[in-house]
Amino acid sequence: MPTQVTLIPGDGIGPSISDATVRILDAAGADIQWDVQVAGQAGVTRWHDPMPDATLDSIKRTCLALKGPLETPVGQGFRSVNVALRKTFDLYANVRPARTLVEHKRRYEDIDLVMIRENTEGLYIGNEHYIQIGNDPKAAAESIALITRHGSERIVRYAFDYAVAHGRKKVTLVHKANILKYSQGLFLDVGREVARDYAGRVEFEDQIVDAMAMKLVLQPERFDVIVTTNLFGDILSDLISGLVGGLGLAPGGNIGRTAAIFEAVHGTAPDIAGKGIANPGALVLAACMMLDHMGKSDVATRVRGALEGTLKDGRSLTRDLGGAASTDEFTNAIIARL
Ligand code: NAD
Repeated sequence: MPTQVTLIPGDGIGPSISDATVRILDAAGADIQWDVQVAGQAGVTRWHDPMPDATLDSIKRTCLALKGPLETPVGQGFRSVNVALRKTFDLYANVRPARTLVEHKRRYEDIDLVMIRENTEGLYIGNEHYIQIGNDPKAAAESIALITRHGSERIVRYAFDYAVAHGRKKVTLVHKANILKYSQGLFLDVGREVARDYAGRVEFEDQIVDAMAMKLVLQPERFDVIVTTNLFGDILSDLISGLVGGLGLAPGGNIGRTAAIFEAVHGTAPDIAGKGIANPGALVLAACMMLDHMGKSDVATRVRGALEGTLKDGRSLTRDLGGAASTDEFTNAIIARL
């Protein structure tokens, strides 16, 4: 019986890379029944809503989605459809692996990191306002960073459980507790408590975020699984994508207790949309994370092998990877290897 998965093709290059990904997964025998739904600009065009009820209902039913990049229409009530999806399904863990795949673009060798970012708290709760002083209504602005014991514990525990499940050796907790003694201090305290439960199985260390940024550039191979709060995770996960050759091969998963949504880290790439030259690699790797999550790791391994083989072969690379192949040619080369 095929597993049902919600597919949101997305905007810009989204439909073309989604189509490529579906073709590759079908060729690999993933046995998925796709429930195709719209969101973002495509949702506005079809239902006058960037996050239509039909799409939410589908994810509630399937508990799994593969999502292309979405354009968040300005002035439609949502700050971002992506943020709204994380809130609606309480997708508290954002998981972004970064592994060296492309030879010619690398500045570093053999990088294999996983960033686990808290996805629902911190400065991104959107609680901010202007403060009027005298006649100036915008004399100051205040943003609240919310860190809870519950939110910290579940993300750090997620990072340790991920390390155990994937045979990884070390978890590095990144914080700024030296300055933000309450909010970041709570995150660090909870992290140390959780780490005790894994003593002897997974090594634990903490790093201050500014020093971490430098160490990731100087010695990225020192790190393994990294766990941090929302804003720091947002910034450092793009940094680690850069270490392994950029956005074209950077996948991500947004994971909650009941639902999970997998996506490429990049956006809709309006500059190349419709030209047939987008690299579907990041969405294909996101689909592999989803297959792992579904317990179909054998299919995921086959797809990753075919993608890596195509990258190493080098004859059918898209432009962002230094080649001249179209999205279809790159996709066909992966399918041929399957
Ligand atoms: P972007 O990631 O879309 O593009 C940045 C650059 O990378 C562009 O030059 C683009 O051509 C290139 N690029 C990105 N993905 C590529 C791919 N698969 N193959 C080849 N080249 C690729 O970032 P942006 O221009 O800042 O954002 C465009 C839109 O995407 C905005 O509306 C933004 O809100 C949205 N966005 C959505 C998501 C998401 O849905 N997860 C994430 C980021 C941005």
